[in-house]
Amino acid sequence: MDVPLFKERISRLRERLREKGVDCIWIVQPENRRYLSGFRATDLQLTESSGSLLINEHDSLLLTDSRYTEEASREAVGFAVKTIQNGIVKGLAGLLPDLGTRRLGFEKDYVTWGIHQELEKTLGELSPPVELVPLDGIVEEMREVKDADEIAALQASADLLSAVMGEIIDFLEPGLTERAVAWKVEELAREGGAEDLAFPSIVASGPNSALPHAVPTDRRLEQGDAVVLDLGVKLNGYCSDMTRTVFLGTPSPVLKKIYRTVREAQAAAIREIRPGLETTFVDGIARNFIKKAGFGDHFGHGLGHGVGLATHEGPRLGPRKPAVLKEGMVVTVEPGIYLPGEGGVRLEEMVLLTAGGARILTRDSHFYDW
Ligand code: ZN
Ligand code: ZN
Repeated sequence: MDVPLFKERISRLRERLREKGVDCIWIVQPENRRYLSGFRATDLQLTESSGSLLINEHDSLLLTDSRYTEEASREAVGFAVKTIQNGIVKGLAGLLPDLGTRRLGFEKDYVTWGIHQELEKTLGELSPPVELVPLDGIVEEMREVKDADEIAALQASADLLSAVMGEIIDFLEPGLTERAVAWKVEELAREGGAEDLAFPSIVASGPNSALPHAVPTDRRLEQGDAVVLDLGVKLNGYCSDMTRTVFLGTPSPVLKKIYRTVREAQAAAIREIRPGLETTFVDGIARNFIKKAGFGDHFGHGLGHGVGLATHEGPRLGPRKPAVLKEGMVVTVEPGIYLPGEGGVRLEEMVLLTAGGARILTRDSHFYDW
């Protein structure tokens, strides 16, 4: 475990806490927890946490229950591990007075209403009382720009995914069901060392390829089908995300046309994307290209998203909410055109933003040049 790296992250977080005027922050979001502490456990469900962090100017505590104490002590180097016995609310109420906390920041999108109600009551009765301060995306923002270790981890994840993608494209043949293909993806990913898929694989064939987030079905692949393969693996905590559209035999003229359009829209966006540009501007490059080709109504989603410990994270590349792209961000570029009943095409690469422009992290040359 790279201790200086986590120390550096904590000290950057402390700076943010001072700016926000809170003297302690309570971190419950699993990827944020891992990013700051190195503690790898996941949460089984929203109401079942494997642990949370309390960080103030001087202390870094990891609060967990006895199921995770050992694992937390091993992984969260630099954190004092506290085993909580009677639930998190009592646990916090017991610790905060000793930490001298008056204003406790919490992640507003990840604390349930029930816990918040209980906390507000319990912490308000302490003397002196502790005030709860909702914070928005404070660690998520830090996670948007990747450091060298993260870039290496994302490249490794993308390399594994690229190898899986290549094998899956060779594996495709008429008669296989979408579910059989999805299972093969999982098998190859696990054999290649992935601890998990980054998200449930999308294997969408024929008319199903017109559904951007299709779930694999028992439909059998047929000659002439477009097959959208949107796959991702998780390796050492880091996700990868990549899409290819493959044709079995010769596709219809309209599928050829949308393929060409998507491919050129993607190439134009990758050519232009660089630090300093606004996300909306880059989205517009691909969107306008698709609009001019006459398919503007059939590209409903954003152009891309950040990838890291989570498959979908900041920044979002879409037509609204402009944000400035920075060096060290890793984002996807994934235009698509979906024609109901006919089929769809999406192509997706993960790119790293460097001073000189985009470096593509995913590697697979399975393209058509019609
Ligand atoms: Zn994807
Ligand atoms: Zn994606």
